[in-house]
Amino acid sequence: AIVGDLLTTLGSKVSEDKVLIEDAGYRFCGSQFDREHLWHPYTSTTNPLPVYKVKHAEGATITLESGETLVEGMSSWWCAVHGYNHPTLNRAAEEQLGKMSHVMFGGLTHDPAIELGQLLLPLVPPSMQKIFYADSGSVAVEVALKMAVQYWYGKGKAKKNNFVTIRSGYHGDTWNAMSVCDPVTGMHSLFGASLPVRYFVPQPRSRFHGEWNERDTVELRKLVEEHHEELAALILEPVVQGAGGMWFYHPQYLREAAQICKEHGLLLIFDEIATGFGRTGKLFAWEHAGVEPDIMCIGKAITGGYMTLSAVLTTNEVADTISNHTPEVFMHGPTFMGNPLACAVACASVKLLTSPEYDWQGKVTRISRQLQEELEPARRLPQVTDVRVLGA
Ligand SMILES: *Cc1c(COP(=O)(O)O)cnc(C)c1O
Repeated sequence: AIVGDLLTTLGSKVSEDKVLIEDAGYRFCGSQFDREHLWHPYTSTTNPLPVYKVKHAEGATITLESGETLVEGMSSWWCAVHGYNHPTLNRAAEEQLGKMSHVMFGGLTHDPAIELGQLLLPLVPPSMQKIFYADSGSVAVEVALKMAVQYWYGKGKAKKNNFVTIRSGYHGDTWNAMSVCDPVTGMHSLFGASLPVRYFVPQPRSRFHGEWNERDTVELRKLVEEHHEELAALILEPVVQGAGGMWFYHPQYLREAAQICKEHGLLLIFDEIATGFGRTGKLFAWEHAGVEPDIMCIGKAITGGYMTLSAVLTTNEVADTISNHTPEVFMHGPTFMGNPLACAVACASVKLLTSPEYDWQGKVTRISRQLQEELEPARRLPQVTDVRVLGA
């Protein structure tokens, strides 16, 4: 991701100066139609960033239409954990296509959804017992927030319907997910009064590999003590704040935060959408702290980067409270919920990742060591403030 961010930075630098692109021998490969009609992530239509047309992707490389080959340092935003065009995942998709690519999950079920659930449960905290499949990471966050609100509604505490989070977080781009993103980078001022107003406490400053500073949770404790009657949950990315700047904080923060939530009746939501499936050196980041959340969101690498799918996991306590009180159902049901094609690829990806021959831990250790060694010289560059590596 560090290399990817570097590439992004270089990309925007290059866009400022088309002459430089030509001088450097880069060809602007985006087609005219793309430039005139297609919106890319976080871009302008009048002054779009350059885009490079991809013909093929294989392993860790992307081949452009121009014939150039790129080393992909970002795994398509941390999703493609096995590399591109993986024969095992390809086969799973092809086999599932021959059966059905989709049926609705309302009133119907299927093996890919069941098998994926069976594969996921042993990998997540033992208290996670109920699974809600959703379309994307952002939708998973929406679902998690709705679950928390509906839980307190069921408990007869409908006033507990707001959220607290830490600064520099990222939880997605839909409305409520955006409301718990960092207020500055999440553009809260732009969307103004139309965005729900959440509570923010400072980002933990104790580094993952450093000393724990107990002052890190002072603001959180104060805020929760003051506002717990209106707070449904604390939501955060455990250990790694990804899109908000690749910040790795001390696992003790999670233990203290869990304690604060418990003392004051707040649910704890872990957004493991970026940290899941081995990326941080553990299968999921909660393992660094040994803290189990009440609700957990997973996504991104769940299908090995093949297609969009996410899941929200929760405890029997949360699910039963929602189900045993009016309206006695959980009020969410996406059209493509539990999509069989996505579930089948996810099954293949999880089986591959967890098979003993695959040795994901050995792979992550090697990637980690290489990143540490080869990025170390960058510390001496005047434009580099820090080099941080955690797992892959
Ligand atoms: C990417 C990401 C999301 C949003 O997922 P989408 O699939 O892009 O909607 C939410 N939370 C975290 C931590 C993420 O990294």
